[in-house]
Amino acid sequence: CGVMAIYNHPDAARLTYWGLYSLQHRGQESGGIAAADGEDIHDLKGMGLVSEIFTDPVLAKLPGNLAIGHTRYSTTGDSALLNAQPIKVESTKGLIAIAHNGNLVNLGTARERLERDGAIFQTTSDTEIIVQLIAHSKHTTLVDCIADSLGQVDGAFSIVMMTRNRIFAARDPHGFRPLSMGRIPGVDGMPDTFVFASETCAFDLLHAKYERDVEPGELVMVSEDGVTSRYFNREVQQASCIFEHVYFARPDSKIFGRWVQKSRDEMGRTLARESGVPADVIVPVPDSGVTAAIGYASESGIPFNFGLIRNHYVGRTFIQPEQRVRDFGVRMKLNPVRALLEGKRVILIDDSIIRGTTSRKIVRMVRAAGAKEVHMRISCPPTISPCFYGVDTPSTRDLIAANNSIEQIRQFIEADSLAYLSLEGVVHSCTTGDAKPVGYCTACYTGNYPTQWVDVEEILPATA
Ligand code: 5GP
Ligand code: SF4
Ligand code: MG
Repeated sequence: CGVMAIYNHPDAARLTYWGLYSLQHRGQESGGIAAADGEDIHDLKGMGLVSEIFTDPVLAKLPGNLAIGHTRYSTTGDSALLNAQPIKVESTKGLIAIAHNGNLVNLGTARERLERDGAIFQTTSDTEIIVQLIAHSKHTTLVDCIADSLGQVDGAFSIVMMTRNRIFAARDPHGFRPLSMGRIPGVDGMPDTFVFASETCAFDLLHAKYERDVEPGELVMVSEDGVTSRYFNREVQQASCIFEHVYFARPDSKIFGRWVQKSRDEMGRTLARESGVPADVIVPVPDSGVTAAIGYASESGIPFNFGLIRNHYVGRTFIQPEQRVRDFGVRMKLNPVRALLEGKRVILIDDSIIRGTTSRKIVRMVRAAGAKEVHMRISCPPTISPCFYGVDTPSTRDLIAANNSIEQIRQFIEADSLAYLSLEGVVHSCTTGDAKPVGYCTACYTGNYPTQWVDVEEILPATA
């Protein structure tokens, strides 16, 4: 998911909309904006792309100087409008709206305890737990109640929250998902506008200047008194999601203090050093394989070219989760450039193989366009374990690398050779040159989860 927040701008909802537009890659299922005008919070949510939901007449219904927004990527549960965010709750602590990126884990006990205390849940969403914990907190000030609530939940959360006149932003103590803070300087003596976004690419369109990340375990509050910060937990080792650098985030974003572009280029270079193969052309699987493929080409000296063309106008019907791997969808989205591939030894670069079905179709497509050899190179290690922290990986039984050797996967996707980037290689690529290297979660490649609780059902092997 992608989250956005604006504090202190007369057109807060529109700025939030622009931000969400830049964060659309983080989720295409539903979108929502809540705006506060000091008196009330108005919110609007819809299914689909933000540009389809937020037309001018819709934005006009969201007045106020404060706004938060969300674009949803479905992980667990269905994608009904009910689960769209921001969630607005009128609680004993006042009116609160919240937008969340990530997944909370181990909610059973928290939910039972709250229900015994009389909490009535409006949604099935894990996000509502945070609001209920705030409402039931014994502390007196709202900021204490929020810190108390965030200290009680486990898992991944980068959240933005809003009351009638304040904005809050927080990240879980592991720092799984990114969240950054920026500022738009006020014109004509007006005060500055504060911006929070999942990725810094959202700041550029708003002419906002990146200030810093919201730190793991930190709660930032923006109010008429300015920006204040406190930590609700600093006891936990950082475990930021390495898959954000591999695939999820945009290369024009700086996340966890590091440019995604730099990491992906280095993944390609490292992959070339680890598993080079003689070839005539390097071809990325667009768009996610492009940056790593350029790195691979620079390192290997083999020319890079766009041997697969992506149709950018394929509607979201073809990118809905259950349809992502459908046959027609792949051919609709990608088409080979015969003039570049015919008679060539081709190295295909992609970010990951999940089920293997898409990769097989692409290899077949490239071969059918006349390629003499097709070598597949993947810019991360084999995906062997599901994610519980906000990325939609299927359970272990559907992960091809959890149940097959690399040679078996090579046979399945019908490639002449197949190699993955090593674990050391991907960590090196996401830390090299940093004064203070980020601590990463690599659980989908190792099965070593940074939180104690995991869903055992999901990690059962295919034979069980
Ligand atoms: P596959 O060969 O595993 O079917 O598809 C590989 C490509 O599709 C990769 O570019 C990968 O990012 C994407 N992909 C396919 N299925 C899934 C999925 O279930 N979850 C995620 N996160 N990505 C997928
Ligand atoms: Fe990211 Fe993988 Fe960890 Fe999930 S399990 S947070 S996708 S590194
Ligand atoms: Mg891809």
